[in-house]
Amino acid sequence: MILIIKNSITEEQFNHILEKIKELGFTPHISRGVKKTIIGLIGEQAEKYREIFEAMEGVEQISEIEKPFKLASREFKEENTIVKVNDKVEIGGKKVVVIAGPCAVESREQIFKIAELVKKSGADLIRGGVFKPRTSPYAFQGLGKEALKYLKEVKELLKIGIVTEVMNIEQIDAVSEVADVLQIGARNVQNFDLLKEVGKIKKPILLKRGMATTIKEWLMSAEYIMSQGNYNVILCERGIRTFEDSTRFTLDLNAIPVVKSLSHLPIIVDPSHGIGIRNFVPTMAKAAVVAGADGLIIEVHHKPEEALSDGPQSILPQQFEQLMQELKKIVEVIGRTI
Ligand code: PEP
Ligand code: MN
Repeated sequence: MILIIKNSITEEQFNHILEKIKELGFTPHISRGVKKTIIGLIGEQAEKYREIFEAMEGVEQISEIEKPFKLASREFKEENTIVKVNDKVEIGGKKVVVIAGPCAVESREQIFKIAELVKKSGADLIRGGVFKPRTSPYAFQGLGKEALKYLKEVKELLKIGIVTEVMNIEQIDAVSEVADVLQIGARNVQNFDLLKEVGKIKKPILLKRGMATTIKEWLMSAEYIMSQGNYNVILCERGIRTFEDSTRFTLDLNAIPVVKSLSHLPIIVDPSHGIGIRNFVPTMAKAAVVAGADGLIIEVHHKPEEALSDGPQSILPQQFEQLMQELKKIVEVIGRTI
């Protein structure tokens, strides 16, 4: 249930509504839009108290959000959400944000080399896995805390924000100390305990779509995070599993307009995992931007043949540079910047 608040409401009346919501055992979720302010009253049986709120000063209208995802829905918030990552980067506005870097941090030298190159080409944030979710238990699992140390140095020395994955609850504290954005991987999209925990921190969460998750289920996962008070959720389409086996996954660009219509949250695209073939990554990156993506996350490696994970889909630094040049021309046509 949402309470649409009168523009003329006094602070006292507003606080009185919030107190009432809490007294009844609900958590108020506030959305301050340009045109209207909404208070979400989320929880089972909120409807039971409708009459109480109808009688309160300052409440203009009460309505139901039909969708099972409430806080993530356009009904709750009409304007696009812009997630502030750090002093320089915002995701969801006019600027298309580019996150680039290796699949995994492999050494201090490797992460510095790649980070410097992609930064020079215009990347806004650096990616690099520290804890890697691998299909095989015998495959490289990431350098763990050692890699976090290197990412911290990259952040401090190159003055650029960091995106890295958190695989379980125990890793949240250590990862949040370094990361500007915490990534929840495709395999953890429905790890509800983990989603609830990252909902309790303030840092932005990059929520990958699962390879077999419908758009609605994915938005329910975003809702888990938001229900705990963290509204800084960035969705990331990274390819779904279909019958097609010529590519690693099938990049579902349909998700961009669909998510934009259902939700106010920003959506970015990962063409690297989405297609899984190096030379096709730039094409899909450009297609994603034209389709309305608010950003891209791209795997880049200077020696992909030696990469410890995802070498075949990692583009070379020169390919990244060329892609950035092409994107500069493309964004002009669609009224955005990069
Ligand atoms: C990754 O970003 O390297 C990764 C493992 O992504 P996903 O969770 O989408 O497979
Ligand atoms: Mn990867």
